Amino acid sequence: MLDLAIIGGGPAGLSAGLYATRGGLKNVVMFEKAMPGGQITSSSEMENYPGVAQVMDGISFMAPWSEQCMRFGLKHEMKEVVRVSKKDDVFEILLSDNTSTLAKSVIVCTGSAPKKAGFKGENEFFGRGVSTCATCDGFFYKNKEVAVLGGGDTALEEALYLSKICKKVYLIHRRDAFRAAPSTVERVKKCENIELILNAKVDEVYGDNSGVTGIKIEFNDKSTKDLAIPGIFTFVGLDVRNEVLKQENGEFLCKMSEQGNVIVDLKMKTNVAGLFAAGDLRLDASRQVVCAAADGATAALGVIAYLEGH
Ligand code: FAD
Ligand code: NAP
Repeated sequence: MLDLAIIGGGPAGLSAGLYATRGGLKNVVMFEKAMPGGQITSSSEMENYPGVAQVMDGISFMAPWSEQCMRFGLKHEMKEVVRVSKKDDVFEILLSDNTSTLAKSVIVCTGSAPKKAGFKGENEFFGRGVSTCATCDGFFYKNKEVAVLGGGDTALEEALYLSKICKKVYLIHRRDAFRAAPSTVERVKKCENIELILNAKVDEVYGDNSGVTGIKIEFNDKSTKDLAIPGIFTFVGLDVRNEVLKQENGEFLCKMSEQGNVIVDLKMKTNVAGLFAAGDLRLDASRQVVCAAADGATAALGVIAYLEGH
């Protein structure tokens, strides 16, 4: 039986793994369905982690995190977790290959994932002109025109990134005020090949067998505009990934907020003994790498105390 199962290998999961193994736990497995690193690996620019003055892309930034954890004995299983349940003081981790593992304690760090914007053609053309990752797909639009949808930090930062690769970037936002940090808004406004399309929404993305060929935009005053472009990047926020806590009867294993975030105390403890949650998934998360990392460390220290007292 595992001492600790960590679900998710983003900043929260990796930091939990580091503190748990370095803190003396011997049998710790991190279940991460992809390569470790989490959602920040889709970012082109990471510049606000304290102590790391050099600006770098998310993949380069996260690479040493796993290496450091593995040195202290954290094991990574590249498997998707379907469900975490608890019976007689023991957790069962059900995996997508239908096997399961038992654990004395669990830290859930499954983070969040890009939201769908909801326009016509979004699903049909996803991966064929509709993307949620500029670092992954930006290069396909070298010297071409693209659109970016959204008004938060992600949309604006990724629009700036794309402006260096693409001929022109149309930044479409449904209001005329941005949610992003003022310094980022200033940089966007100064960028010569970013054109702001404000008070507008994307109505439809259309195309043919080869992919997107254009998008239809509707302004708040109901006027419309057509852009003949091959790609659109959508950054309209995030949904929490809480599915692993859903039980067979449809109820969650622990207390959740109405929005689907896990309710934890200041030690990242849920209301279920031995179950902790950390990072973007938890209630009132600041949705920052440094905060997720701190949560992971706090949760691991909580697990060590829990196992000692058990
Ligand atoms: P995540 O990073 O979301 O990691 C969760 C992990 O869990 C993922 O790797 C996922 O594959 C895995 N997982 C999920 N479900 C399962 C399952 N069922 N089984 C197994 N594995 C599973 N923050 C900053 O501080 N600075 C920035 O500049 C910044 N830029 C950003 C740019 C972009 C494009 C994005 C999307 C986010 C950015 N953020 C930034 C926010 C930051 O990335 C997040 O706050 C942080 O990654 C949250 O960490 P986490 O560990 O909670 O979750
Ligand atoms: P976000 O802050 O939630 O912003 C989402 C944006 O999309 C908002 O501008 C919103 O408009 C718009 N939107 C939502 N639904 C839409 C729809 N259906 N159609 C069109 N537009 C829609 O999301 P985010 O930018 O991904 O950021 C997520 C979190 O990560 C935030 O906490 C952010 O601060 C953090 N983050 C931080 C950094 C950094 O620190 N440098 C970088 C990236 C992300 P409204 O404004 O009108 O609601």
